[in-house]
Amino acid sequence: MKGFFDTRIEFLKGTGPQKSALLNKELGIFTYGDLIQFYPFRYEDRTRFYTVSELNDQLSNVQIKGTLGKIETMGVGAKRRLVAQLKDDTGIVELIWFKGINWVLRKLQTGVPYTAFGKPTRYGSKINMAHPEIEVLTTGHQGPGYLQPVYHTTENLKRRFLDSRAIGKLQKQLLLSAYPYITESLPDTLMKELGLISKSEALRNIHFPENNRKLSQARLRLKFEELFYIQLRLLKLKQSRVDKFKGKVYSETLLINEFYHQHLPFELTDAQKRVIREIYGDMKSGRQMNRLLQGDVGSGKTIVAFICMLAVVGAESQAALMAPTEILAEQHFRGLQSYAKKMGIEIEILTGSTKKSVRKQLHQRLETGKLQILVGTHALLEDQVQFKSLGLAVIDEQHRFGVAQRAKLWSKNKDFFPHVLVMTATPIPRTLAMTLYGDLDVSVIDELPPGRKPVETVHRYDQNRLKVFGFIKKQLAAGRQIYFVYPLIEESAKMDLKHLEDGYDSITRAFPQVPVSIVHGKMKSKDKDYEMRRFVKGETRIMVATTVIEVGVNVPNATVMVIENSERFGLAQLHQLRGRVGRGADQSYCILMTDVKISREGRTRIQTLERTNDGFEIADVDLKLRGPGDLMGTQQSGVLDLMIADLAQDGKLLRVAREKASSILEADPGLDQPGNENIRQQIANQKKSSLNWSRIS
Ligand code: ADP
Ligand code: MG
Repeated sequence: MKGFFDTRIEFLKGTGPQKSALLNKELGIFTYGDLIQFYPFRYEDRTRFYTVSELNDQLSNVQIKGTLGKIETMGVGAKRRLVAQLKDDTGIVELIWFKGINWVLRKLQTGVPYTAFGKPTRYGSKINMAHPEIEVLTTGHQGPGYLQPVYHTTENLKRRFLDSRAIGKLQKQLLLSAYPYITESLPDTLMKELGLISKSEALRNIHFPENNRKLSQARLRLKFEELFYIQLRLLKLKQSRVDKFKGKVYSETLLINEFYHQHLPFELTDAQKRVIREIYGDMKSGRQMNRLLQGDVGSGKTIVAFICMLAVVGAESQAALMAPTEILAEQHFRGLQSYAKKMGIEIEILTGSTKKSVRKQLHQRLETGKLQILVGTHALLEDQVQFKSLGLAVIDEQHRFGVAQRAKLWSKNKDFFPHVLVMTATPIPRTLAMTLYGDLDVSVIDELPPGRKPVETVHRYDQNRLKVFGFIKKQLAAGRQIYFVYPLIEESAKMDLKHLEDGYDSITRAFPQVPVSIVHGKMKSKDKDYEMRRFVKGETRIMVATTVIEVGVNVPNATVMVIENSERFGLAQLHQLRGRVGRGADQSYCILMTDVKISREGRTRIQTLERTNDGFEIADVDLKLRGPGDLMGTQQSGVLDLMIADLAQDGKLLRVAREKASSILEADPGLDQPGNENIRQQIANQKKSSLNWSRIS
């Protein structure tokens, strides 16, 4: 059954097929429901009149009223302009038009009272208003003021006379007939408890606010609703998985104790101990684990993963670790192998370049259960790779793998789903994690191993390059290795490659005795790997590269990271790059090179890095600077297409929404109690019109 809000907008008075087609194409508005949820992005303040004496160039658009004095046109040709004086009790302001002069002239009459609406600007010592909207003052203007909605629109729409005002008119038209069909989507008790206004009052006031107070109430209500339903959806997803997918119970601790007491190479940090407890808690709970393990670079996630693997290996099950690239897989393999050896555990690596003969016997050992831990790339997902009994799947660097791939790993067993641990070194602010990974449980390693010297970060201008080279010379003489990283931006890939090659030339000239590697995205991956390996082994001492080295490469002997044109990188990326050094015992450095001219935002990014090494603090600044849509790995997720809430600002509200959603689900898992009728109805409506819920049912 189709509801009122599924009606196509061509049926709305004032649209018609052509305008509708444009609204479809330009704004993605197809139905009444889409239109009513197309909220204004700001409002013009028509709640009061300003006096001429109050005007200053700091104000945005304001309205004034007064009587028109002298009206004259000045200048000729391109310089021709119309100047009219508007006078109130406090002074005179000039209104100026450069275009449409004749048309405006016809509307203006000396001695008549008008209202003008526009932005005061300073011209020399005087304040004036260019191209104001102007109307004869009527009794209509004497009534209570209002906030005028401003809607996003496009050049194409404006050409068809669908400017912000016209969209406002459509909204008014729609609202008039919509009221009887607006159903309340939140439970009464919840609205009372939180003091939220009704849905229909909120929709009216978001488009046509009676006043500022009503507008804030409308915003609060709609933001809450949006966040509440996202959280409810994620929690329900989790719940249905918990119900459907029983997890195998792993409570055996023999191997763990053995490793702990005989082979542990260092004391674990409190944070590592805590997350291991959390993961164990899941694995012996009887529920299938789906947990995100966040920890900054160097926080020691590998050993955590290994200790968790021991729980399944000790119970005659197997564990797998999947990494996004061959180099990373190899690195993980080496790390885990050193621990596994001590315990007599069989471990292998499988990647795209594993030889066929090796592969064959590896498959076999996997199927018989002889092989206990398998590390690898996407190659693990191939159908031929069959485990005897996969108990734990660890996935590194989540954002490179999609949800679908996660799901594929689950299906590696016939009779039960393996526990899944997703590891990421990309720090994500809590609010974002709650939304992006809201269906996962989250563990955080928020502490680095002791004795780690924080990377020293400095900002240097290009003109001081010689000094920087001097410093690098000393580091090289001390036996260290160096990274030089160049930005890569798709649109000007050619230019970037040239920069990189020029950089390579000047570096080889500056350090003629030193072997240098170069790696960039245009190289074949075989050649890239070859060069990377040379650097990892220490055969080359300087690595000149684009951001391809960003994720995970571990060369403890590398102590200097020089980032060229660092103002062109995002914060998260800079932090990731910096994480490539500071992995050994020696003091490490990150040198951020820039031109003398940098944007304010670029400077903020650089200063943030100089100030702190804390990935979460950096992620928070990043979220504030850029908004969530641009943060690493969030683009594809879709959950961030928020209509009104803003994850950078509404963190508190998000937490409330999650809490409420969680307690409602806890009390009424099926949402079938009478008090939750509104929620049930809303979900039914959303199911009809969006794909998002379909994953649950
Ligand atoms: P990441 O979280 O970036 O994957 P790794 O697991 O690679 O970090 O650990 C980084 C380095 O720190 C490794 O050399 C590892 O052996 C070491 N390490 C991990 N945990 C500790 C600890 N508790 N004490 C000392 N060193 C540790
Ligand atoms: Mg790692």
